[in-house]
Amino acid sequence: MLTPLVECVPNFSEGRDRAKIKRITDAIEAVGGVTLLNVEPGADTHRTVVTFVGTPAGVEQAAFAAIAVAAQVIDMRTHSGAHARMGATDVCPFVPVEGITMNECVAIAQRLGERVGRELGIPVYLYEAAATRPERRNLADVRRGEYEALAKKLADPAWKPDFGPPAFNPTAGATVIGARPFLIAYNVNLNSTDKNHASDLAFALREKGRVARSGNTVPYYSRGKKLFYREGSFPCGSCDFVGASYEAVASHCTEEHGYDLGELLRSNDLAPPNVVGKNVYRPGLFRACKAVGWYVRDYDRAQVSINLTDFATTPPHDVLEASRTLAAERGLVVTGSEIVGVVPVAAMMQAGKFYLGRQGRTLGQPVGDILRTAVTSLGLTDVAPFDVRTKVLGLPVIPAGALVQRTVLDFTDEVSRDSPAPGGGSVAALAGALGAALASMVANLTYGKEGTEAQDAELARVAEEAQRIKDQLIVAVDADSEAFQGFMDALRLPQGTPEEKSERTRKMQEGLKAAVAVPWSTAEASYAAMKLARSVVTHGNPSSLSDGAVGVQIAFAGVRGGLWNVLINLKDVADPAYVAKKRAACVALLAEAKALADEAAAAVDERLIAMIEKR
Ligand SMILES: [Zn+2]
Repeated sequence: MLTPLVECVPNFSEGRDRAKIKRITDAIEAVGGVTLLNVEPGADTHRTVVTFVGTPAGVEQAAFAAIAVAAQVIDMRTHSGAHARMGATDVCPFVPVEGITMNECVAIAQRLGERVGRELGIPVYLYEAAATRPERRNLADVRRGEYEALAKKLADPAWKPDFGPPAFNPTAGATVIGARPFLIAYNVNLNSTDKNHASDLAFALREKGRVARSGNTVPYYSRGKKLFYREGSFPCGSCDFVGASYEAVASHCTEEHGYDLGELLRSNDLAPPNVVGKNVYRPGLFRACKAVGWYVRDYDRAQVSINLTDFATTPPHDVLEASRTLAAERGLVVTGSEIVGVVPVAAMMQAGKFYLGRQGRTLGQPVGDILRTAVTSLGLTDVAPFDVRTKVLGLPVIPAGALVQRTVLDFTDEVSRDSPAPGGGSVAALAGALGAALASMVANLTYGKEGTEAQDAELARVAEEAQRIKDQLIVAVDADSEAFQGFMDALRLPQGTPEEKSERTRKMQEGLKAAVAVPWSTAEASYAAMKLARSVVTHGNPSSLSDGAVGVQIAFAGVRGGLWNVLINLKDVADPAYVAKKRAACVALLAEAKALADEAAAAVDERLIAMIEKR
C-alpha cells in the first residue's frame, strides 16, 4: 500500500545563474515518479540546495541526471563562494522517508557513486551511513581543503576515492554521495519577542549544550557566572563535582551523567585534554539536536530554531514538551511550533500517538485522526498554515478517482451496474474492512473504562491492529477491481508467430497468478479481522456484543468471498504445483474461518438469549 519514498538533497556549486540551475532541475523533473520539492539558490554561497522525493529507482535516476548536467554547466575552475565545496555537485545524500530502510538508501548511494565514477569520470567519496571507513563519515572531514586541495588529496592513497578515477577532474571536482537520516527543521514559538529568551531554551536543549555557570542560574541560566577549567580544578558543570584532573572529571561525566566529555568539548571547538583556562561546558537535553534562539520579524516572535538530525533518536514532540517545561520555569509560554519545509509521516504519527496515549486513548485510531491530534498538540498552525497534504511526506495516498472515495450510495450503485467490476472481490474486501472497523470500534469504546484494567492491553492491541488491517483491506477494494488488468492486457497481445503465442500465454499465466494473489490477501486479512472481532466479543463491553458479532460475520464474508475469487481464477492456472499448493491453503483457511464464525455465532446467540431470560 505504501510506495517506498526516498528524499534526495543534492547541493550544486551554482547559486547565481538561474538558467543553469533550471537546466539541472529540469533534468530532475524529467524523470517519472519524482517530485521536485524545493530549490534554494544562494548568491553569496554560490550554491543551490535542491530537494526532491520519489520512488527509489526514480530518485536514483534523477540524481544521476542532475549530476551529469551539473558537470556540463558548472566549471569549478572559476567558482568561489562563501560555502565550503569540492565539486560541481558537491554533496548528494539519500534520505529514507517512508517504507525504505537506511541500508537500502546506502545501496542507492553505492550504485549511483559507481555510475558517476564510471560514466562521468568524477571521483566519488561515500559519507555518513554509506561511508566505507570511519574517517569518511563526516562531510566536513571529507571536504577538508576543498576544491583547491583536491588534486593533492586524490594523489594521497589514504584519500583514494570510493568510486571513479583517482585523478583530478578540474571542471567537475569531486562529489560526496551518501545516506543520512531525515533532517527536520523545527521551530518552537514563544510568547516573547526577546531573542535571549529563545537562546536560553536553545542552549538547554541542544546536544552541544552551553558554557557552564554557577550562582544566579535560575530561572535564566545565562545570568550565572561562567566556570573555567584551572590547574587542579576541573568542574563538572552538570553538577557541583570538581575533579583534580581532566581525566577525573571526564570519567565522572561518563559514570554519573552518561556523556562523553571529550566529544562535548570537541563539538564546542576545544581540544581536550588541554583545556586549562577554557570555559567549562555542559551538554543539553537532546542528542541529534542543534538549536539557536532568534527573533523572527515576519511573526514578531522569538523562536527556538531547531534542526533534528535524527528524529528516531530525538522526535519533535519530545523537544516541544521539554521546551514547554523550560519555558514555564522561566515564566514564558510556548504558543506552538513550526515545521519548516516537510516532515516524514512517521514523525507525525509518533507525535499523534504520544498525545493520544497521554489522553488515555488507544493508538488504534484512523490515520487522519492521529495526524490531526499531532497538528493540534504540537500547535503547528500557530504562526503559519499547516496543510497535512503538502507538509507531510509519505502519507498513504488514495487517488481521487478510487472506488473507496465514493459515497456508500454511489459505490453500491456502481456495483449494481452492468459492468463486471467492481464485483464480488471488491465487495469481499470492503466486508473485511468493515469487520476490522467494528473490532476497532468496540475495543476503543471499552478501553480504559472502570473495571477494564485486565482487558486493556488486549483491547489496545486489537484497536491498533484492526486499524492496520482495515487500511490494508480498504486499498484492496480498488486493487481487486484492477487485479484482472494484467490478464486482460495479455489477451490483447499479438499471436502471429509461435514466439508471440508463447509470450502471450506466459503473460496470461502471469496475469492469472496476480489475479489470484489479490483476493488471497483479502481472504487472509479478513481472517485477521475476524479474529480481532472475535476478541472483542469476549473482552469488549457487553452492550457492544452485537457489534463485535457483526464484525466476525461480515469479515467471514470477506474470507469466503476472497477464497471464492482465488478458486475461480486458480482453475485456469497451468502450473500444477502452484495450483495444488494454493488449493490446499484455501481449504485450510476456509476450515479455520468457518469454525471461528460458527463458534462466535453460537457464543453470541447463547449470551444474548441468556440476557433475555435473566430479565
Ligand atoms: Zn557532575
